[in-house]
Amino acid sequence: MRDAFALLERDNARTIDQQVALCEIPAPPFKEQARGVAFAKELAALGLTHIRTDGEGNVIGELFGGSPGPTTMLSAHLDTVFPEGTDVRVKREGTKLTAPGIGDDCRGLTVVLAVTRAMVQTKVKFPGRILVTGTVGEEGAGNLRGVRAIYASALKDSIDYFISVDGTGYGITNRGVGSIRYRVTFAGPGGHSYGAFGMPNPIHAMGRAIATVSDVQVPSEPRTTFNVGIVEGGRTVNTISDKAAMEVDMRSESWEALTALDAKVQAALRKALSDEKARWPNSIVPLTMTIDTIGIRAAGTTPESSPIVQAGVAAAKTVGVYAPLMASSTDSNVPISLGKAAITVDGGGLGKGAHSLDESYDDRTDGYKGPQFVLMLVHNLSRTKVPPKGLVP
Ligand SMILES: [Zn+2]
Repeated sequence: MRDAFALLERDNARTIDQQVALCEIPAPPFKEQARGVAFAKELAALGLTHIRTDGEGNVIGELFGGSPGPTTMLSAHLDTVFPEGTDVRVKREGTKLTAPGIGDDCRGLTVVLAVTRAMVQTKVKFPGRILVTGTVGEEGAGNLRGVRAIYASALKDSIDYFISVDGTGYGITNRGVGSIRYRVTFAGPGGHSYGAFGMPNPIHAMGRAIATVSDVQVPSEPRTTFNVGIVEGGRTVNTISDKAAMEVDMRSESWEALTALDAKVQAALRKALSDEKARWPNSIVPLTMTIDTIGIRAAGTTPESSPIVQAGVAAAKTVGVYAPLMASSTDSNVPISLGKAAITVDGGGLGKGAHSLDESYDDRTDGYKGPQFVLMLVHNLSRTKVPPKGLVP
């Protein structure tokens, strides 16, 4: 382990070069193939076995430690939020790198590869095996489709620990923030603003809905939030629009609080529809409302006392960094919601502006501590006595 730690520090320039190279391969939502191929090539170069791309597009390779022990999936996500055609060339200024996706999650992919490289090259012996993985569809509309596919496959019962490296700094995310998102469309025949006046108006209905949703009360503990993030509709100022649409995002650390919020929002939507109809009792024109689900992410918590969280806390102590426990929405949501031992950890460095075009990652003087932290975590876990399958640790 001492050799592996030293290698990660010595080899840091190579780690950074790899982060740049991966980032410059575009990986828009649902189009992660090219970056997946590059990731698989790296796994092959490191001598991993059983390298495959599953039906969903996840890339998985296996590293055997030499003796029986737990199976740990060490993963990062291949996809970015940026659409096709985004300029992903990386600008370097000293230790600072700027490019869309450079931190989220090219840092994670690079840390996963660096940890694997250190273990292979210094011949770290460990019990069990590590499934080194690049997942697809973590962001937005991807709705965690990659990790969902893994936990819908035969693999799910053989994974004892799931680690996602996603984010910068040294946090440990053990609480999965759940989310429910949908697109709501109000529709009617529409018409002339003067000539057809007196009929239900889809835009007015949507306005009523937003006003009611805005006033919904949510608990601050567990933190529960809502947002109307997109509104669309309208043809001209003198047209009763035939359509209006809005997209709503709701989140909570508690599934119970989230579903309670969802019920309130749906009630607000139905009330808006009936209020707008009631406003024009003499109109025979229809007004409809459709709710299309965009994404649902389950919520849950890996207890602080569980071996996987404790392994992370201990790893941070060994490396000499502070690792706060956090709540977020990441690939770990899926295993956490299934009661499996999972956390998401940060990959070191300092990140800014994730999901924006001027996203940056600064390795500063001690970025190598990110892979050291993850290596130590994996090492600690390989020595954990795994509880019988099916029990929540
Ligand atoms: Zn991410």
